[in-house]
Amino acid sequence: MRAFRRFTVRPVLPPALDALGELAANLRWSWHPATQDLFAEVDAERWEATGHDPVRLLGEVGRERFEELAADEGFTRRLAGLRADLQAYLTEDRWFQRTQVHGADGGPGGGPRAIAYFSPEFGITAVLPQYSGGLGILAGDHLKAASDLGVPIVGVGLLYRHGYFTQSLDRDGWQQESYPVLDPDGLPVTLLRESDGTPAQVTIAMPDGPELVARVWVAQVGRVPLLALDTDVEANPESYREVTDRLYGGTSEHRLRQELLLGVGGVRALRAFSRITGHPAPEVFHTNEGHAGFLGLERIRELTVAEDGPQLDFDTALELGRASTVFTTHTPVPAGIDRFARSLVEQYFGVGGAVPGVPADRVLALGAEDYAGGDGGVFNMAVMGFRLAQRANGVSLLHGEVSRGMFSGLWPAFDEAEVPIGSITNGVHAPTWTAREIVELAVARGADTRSDDTDPFWAAVDTVPDTEMWAVKRVLRERLVHEARRRTRASWTQRGASPAELGWVDDVLDPDVLTIGFARRVPSYKRLTLMLRDPERLKRLLLHPERPVQLVIAGKSHPADDGGKRLIQQLVRFADDPEVRHRIVFLPDYDIAMAQPLYPGCDVWLNNPLRPYEACGTSGMKAALNGGLNLSILDGWWDEWYDGGNGWAIPSADGVEDADRRDDLEAHALYDLLEHEVAPRFYDLDADGVPPRWVAMLRHTLKSLGRKVLATRMVRDYVRQLYTPAATTARRLDGDHAGAAALAAWKRHVLTGWSGVAVEHVESDGVSDLVRVGDQLGVRAFVALGDLDPGDVAVQLVHGSPDDTDRLRDAEVVPLALAESYDGGRHRFEATVPLARAGGFGYTVRVVPHHEMLASDAELGVVSLPAGG
Ligand SMILES: *Cc1c(COP(=O)(O)O)cnc(C)c1O
Repeated sequence: MRAFRRFTVRPVLPPALDALGELAANLRWSWHPATQDLFAEVDAERWEATGHDPVRLLGEVGRERFEELAADEGFTRRLAGLRADLQAYLTEDRWFQRTQVHGADGGPGGGPRAIAYFSPEFGITAVLPQYSGGLGILAGDHLKAASDLGVPIVGVGLLYRHGYFTQSLDRDGWQQESYPVLDPDGLPVTLLRESDGTPAQVTIAMPDGPELVARVWVAQVGRVPLLALDTDVEANPESYREVTDRLYGGTSEHRLRQELLLGVGGVRALRAFSRITGHPAPEVFHTNEGHAGFLGLERIRELTVAEDGPQLDFDTALELGRASTVFTTHTPVPAGIDRFARSLVEQYFGVGGAVPGVPADRVLALGAEDYAGGDGGVFNMAVMGFRLAQRANGVSLLHGEVSRGMFSGLWPAFDEAEVPIGSITNGVHAPTWTAREIVELAVARGADTRSDDTDPFWAAVDTVPDTEMWAVKRVLRERLVHEARRRTRASWTQRGASPAELGWVDDVLDPDVLTIGFARRVPSYKRLTLMLRDPERLKRLLLHPERPVQLVIAGKSHPADDGGKRLIQQLVRFADDPEVRHRIVFLPDYDIAMAQPLYPGCDVWLNNPLRPYEACGTSGMKAALNGGLNLSILDGWWDEWYDGGNGWAIPSADGVEDADRRDDLEAHALYDLLEHEVAPRFYDLDADGVPPRWVAMLRHTLKSLGRKVLATRMVRDYVRQLYTPAATTARRLDGDHAGAAALAAWKRHVLTGWSGVAVEHVESDGVSDLVRVGDQLGVRAFVALGDLDPGDVAVQLVHGSPDDTDRLRDAEVVPLALAESYDGGRHRFEATVPLARAGGFGYTVRVVPHHEMLASDAELGVVSLPAGG
């Protein structure tokens, strides 16, 4: 029988144990080992059985045990200590307060008062399963690192009744999905309530139906609140209750409704949260991937037509919204970008729609692919993301470059290198992802986990003796082996095997064998089965008599992706073979709980995506923090930080068009590396049983990557490069909104007058027959500006080395100064450039719009070059 209704009864703790409830309610416990130890002390068995879930643990422990604990002085003392520690963590000044805030309320030049971070998924802990993969884990790590640094972020997302899905296998190795119900009352979230106790509500007008109603849950992630909207409320008809059913499922219209709720509903939830709690209104809005982009439309509505708003015109509101918005694009895979039928968007944003009063044609124009190669029938969320954000970035250097190429159609007048999309490389939250034993090594060498200052450890890595380092890795490998056996047994039982058939599971994996991990979602570009390209060769590597390797593999395929499921099946069938099953396992249901012991237990982390489709990748960073060596295609972050000695680069056959041949080439390069480089180094032991050349590489990994891969480094980069500049521009435009109105008017004026701008004539001197390094090039440009003033533009000399089609490589930009103005809107600009390098030199002169509130010369998309230039 199925329950008609369900709810969870929350425990009543004895007053002496009140603080246990406080510790459970703040997810900081999930990266604070001492707090986890305290929960284990409450009831060790239940702590394991609940999968380390404090809310469930406290719900299941009986009154008697609580009374025992309340009378245990040692326990109550530890509890009081941890509560005080949490209070201090939540209130003391941290990096942001110490270095980024000037003046009481932010003040000019200061960091933002608050930042809203919108994401369709957040991966914070296994007990709040609201993520599918890398994007969500990254969002979770972003919030945690912001909390550690004191950065005033508020997360905004959805609460899905089923999260993503739980993966298991059938007898044939085919992926099975199940969707357990998550009762919010059993999750570490609380309902946002009005002061009279009624649940706060957010509503959105829908086409042909009643309003969509959502309530708002709040999860506390250290210092950072995370708001999560949920439509599973009685006021909604059934079809609306399903809007927040699961992540990335359903039809295109279902996705549109989810994104409408996230973007438009998210801003409304934030306003309710501020009104009720007094939380400062965000000065910066960060759109984490295109899915959340509708937030910009709601902000335009607030600024243009809302009765309690300033009633600005659309263009002025757009300038304000853009100045305060940051957009991060996360994938170069076209299928990863949301594109809706224009007609569908029109239906939801038409008259009386989600943002009433905002003209539908302006909305549609924001997402239009109105560039060469675009599809006129679709509304593209990434394109809207760029148009609604003055600052945008990719998530690694290489991905920034790929994104500039991919979206260059939006700035057709500019070379790809000048497309205004920068990059900030992702990072991972060390306290979440570093094994305790490694943290202890670090603390013993002066790392201060309280202040998140791990520098002393990276500096002291060399003082850890080889034997100690190696002993720690063995402990971690052994833990993974036990975990893998437990999961293998559970999976086979689930697949229908009886205990009597499963004796072999006790011999699965070996704590002294070179252990390679491979775990990630299974879209085709990640190439789960590349290692199976030559199955006989893989077998020989696994079964090598002196230098065997063992593989631990995991990953979920999107439920609608049968191709991905076939790859999983192929791998599972290989791993089921009695000849090799002690050396290769596929563990179902990859999630945070599996990932945490997996990364530290691996000696090598394997990644073989099809370059350049891995925007960044973060699992290899987590491995590196635990002394794992990366063996990866030079894609994403690895392309940037591989230094020849901190792991291995699998050569990629870029440019080989035949996909099969490319896979062959890259697979063989992988086998060769494993056979000739990786395994020999691992098994080359000294008299103490330690492989010195391996440990040297492990040290180098920690030293070269430890500081870089941190989410705290990433969040600091966001604050300095994007959040603070965005807040600064927004403050200058805001006030009485005059700045924004002036900027909007200036843009109209410049675009209207641009046809009158021309580089009419360029003269140079200093360039004789014989030019030498050290000579000067003098350039005079005669420029017509029509109705524009010299102050409206920048005239620039762009120089570099010309290639054989005269394109300038490594171009540099030098400003020309106004020298003289003539009648009729004509002006002479001049510059002198020293010729510093021998070799080919090419240059051109161009005019671009210039205004101090622009973030890039390319922002308006127009440029004027010499005729024929
Ligand atoms: C880190 C992590 C990911 C993302 O890994 P990528 O290398 O970016 O593919 C996905 N799922 C889980 C559970 C993770 O911990």
